[in-house]
Amino acid sequence: MRTKVKELINKLGVHISLENGDMDIHTPIDGRVIASIKTTTLEEQEKVVVASEQAFNKWRNIPAPERGEVVRVFGNILRENKELLAELVSIECGKIKEEARGEVQEMIDVCDFAVGLSRQLYGLTIQSERPQHIMSENWLPLGVVGVISSFNFPVAVWVWNAALAWVCGDCVIWKPSEKTPLTALASHNLFLNALRACDKDWEGISSVLIGGKELGKSLVSDSRIRLISATGSVPMGKAVAPVVAGRFGKLLLELGGNNAAVVTPSADLDIALPSILFGAIGTAGQRCTSTRRLFVHKSIYEKLLLMLKPAYESVEKKIGSPLNPNTLIGPLIDETSYMNMQKAIATIKEQGGEIYGGVRVLMKEYPDAYYVTPALVRMKKQTEIVHTETFAPILYVLPYDNLEQAMEMHNAVPQGLSSTIFSTDIREAEFFRQRSDCGIANVNIGTSGAEIGGAFGGEKETGGGRESGSDAWKNYMRRQTSTTYYGKEKPKLAQGISFDTE
Ligand code: NAD
Repeated sequence: MRTKVKELINKLGVHISLENGDMDIHTPIDGRVIASIKTTTLEEQEKVVVASEQAFNKWRNIPAPERGEVVRVFGNILRENKELLAELVSIECGKIKEEARGEVQEMIDVCDFAVGLSRQLYGLTIQSERPQHIMSENWLPLGVVGVISSFNFPVAVWVWNAALAWVCGDCVIWKPSEKTPLTALASHNLFLNALRACDKDWEGISSVLIGGKELGKSLVSDSRIRLISATGSVPMGKAVAPVVAGRFGKLLLELGGNNAAVVTPSADLDIALPSILFGAIGTAGQRCTSTRRLFVHKSIYEKLLLMLKPAYESVEKKIGSPLNPNTLIGPLIDETSYMNMQKAIATIKEQGGEIYGGVRVLMKEYPDAYYVTPALVRMKKQTEIVHTETFAPILYVLPYDNLEQAMEMHNAVPQGLSSTIFSTDIREAEFFRQRSDCGIANVNIGTSGAEIGGAFGGEKETGGGRESGSDAWKNYMRRQTSTTYYGKEKPKLAQGISFDTE
């Protein structure tokens, strides 16, 4: 695998030192080391922040459509390298090649979206109460943006933020997950190739810091970083939020989910089944939007379980290397993740759950890797463990009596990212959309696999941030209200206040 990684890096046309570093990178495919790379020191980080601030002073003055041109070229470079980058994503984070291709496609789509935005980023004109006054709201570049990302979307999360931030006139410093720095370095270097192709000396607009939590902490506490966009677990968000708030920085949090699907008696189960399976099992249950809870009306509870069980049995035959085109379930990221899953399984049993699956699949050729069968859990009540996000393929199936009660259980967890209902009854569907407390509420499609055109993110402990589509670009700019008087008379004061000094 080490040789394969070297080949991929060479074919991508980027220069990354893969040997003699101070941090070993493992692939979850076989658990072995694929590279040893150098981490960023705090002194180097300081230089990066200074260089980014300097670059911002140039970049903010470049017209937004010209900034968009760089992003357009980057999108095309990603198109040309989609297959190679997808393979590297598969190797480093273990998601199956097809999903890795989807992740790179998401990067390309966001670039296209940002290019369009670069000719908009529009403000408002507002009617003034005073004669010959004009009021407007303008959006201006924010400054240096820090992006902290998780292992499970090792490249797309960066572009969701960075492509928008760049067209908005900001510079981006990226601290990727310590589990996936190779794909980060490769993607960042592809962006530098885009800058070279544009023949521009704007290098400081994108930087990468390689390292763990400590590096992330120092970025978060730096008041020169105007916005921190952090994607990861709820405990990470709880650590980051007070620090950024304490220095009055801007914050965009994309944290853990505990997503649910509701299946009503009117549901078309042939439509529901594939969506439930992809949601629960896709990316080996390691998506923030993975389906973790399934509320099924008691009249169809046994029937749906009878459909799910053989489906789970058949996917068990498709567990293996994510590079194999027949695989549907790749490995968990590491041993810690496997241990967390096993701990959850022990608790589920204590709390009355009946479990099918959830055991380790030992691969003779990969003894140091952690492959598991997905767990299907028959659960009578939504106990404490169901309220927790276990980042592994565990699906709790719970019966409900009426939709009101289903929605009470649905909203009883602390997270609020994605949700869905399977129903052919418009009243049920609309009731669900009104009641779901999540940032995403779907009808007859799964909880995972969002498109980039919508604003992505969730409520409650998921952090409240919105990224990617819609008007998420406003996070990367500062709003300014401006009033101009163009008359010749003495100007009037607002609210009719008289302040006559004569
Ligand atoms: P994690 O919280 O362990 O790490 C995420 C990133 O935060 C890493 O880069 C890490 O180095 C950094 N970090 C950790 N503690 C920090 C601190 N105190 N200060 C600054 N940086 C810190 O998460 P993970 O295991 O990589 O990813 C899985 C989690 O991410 C899951 O909970 C999943 O739901 C969530 N996630 C959420 C979204 C979303 O959009 N809502 C998307 C992907 C993943």
